Amino acid sequence: MSLETVPKDQRNLRACLLCSLVKTLEQFEYDGCDNCEEYLRMKNNREQVYDCTSSNFDGLIALMGPEDSWVAKWQRIGRFVKGCYAISVTGRLHPSTIRDLKSKGVFYRSRDTSQKT
Ligand SMILES: [Zn+2]
Repeated sequence: MSLETVPKDQRNLRACLLCSLVKTLEQFEYDGCDNCEEYLRMKNNREQVYDCTSSNFDGLIALMGPEDSWVAKWQRIGRFVKGCYAISVTGRLHPSTIRDLKSKGVFYRSRDTSQKT
């Protein structure tokens, strides 16, 4: 079964702007982002979920074995949890969030590969 067959607008799917993990709005609100919760704190904060995720993304990768996946290396998601990841995410984190990340040693790079920045 291919994930590409799942319609984009189905089930409120959103992609994390920092790591490109794809989950539903409810999952982000309930669990936060599996990779970035430490930095983005989306749990039980719907506003923050809207700020840190985007419903506008392209392509899906199912990440099964991050350690030995060349796709994961290519997408710079080798250290992330197993799950579905978007190839390109449209949108940016708030400048204040980016500053906050920087102070924690996380350097944000836009995951939007659909246009030159
Ligand atoms: Zn994330």
